[in-house]
Amino acid sequence: MDPSRFTQVSPQQWRVEPHGPMRVPAVIFADEALLRERTIKEVLHELGHAYGLVHCHDQLCVMRASTYVEEVDLKDAGFCGACAAGIGAA
Ligand SMILES: [Zn+2]
Ligand SMILES: [Zn+2]
Repeated sequence: MDPSRFTQVSPQQWRVEPHGPMRVPAVIFADEALLRERTIKEVLHELGHAYGLVHCHDQLCVMRASTYVEEVDLKDAGFCGACAAGIGAA
């Protein structure tokens, strides 16, 4: 996806997560198109589980586990070949 769709936040706006040293932006800006894309990805991901898929290690596969919303943005809104085959879609 197009990285220019993300708005940079200054380090002053960052906060420390209570469960680890990883620093994430306190505010993650998203336009309507990006919110829609994230929703589609998460719906596809949960549907994949409903059809019996487990988490995938393919960087771009929608079945890759996402802890942070940034990780949702990094993957595609689609299944890799192995996951597609797992739900009979390949
Ligand atoms: Zn999952
Ligand atoms: Zn996969």
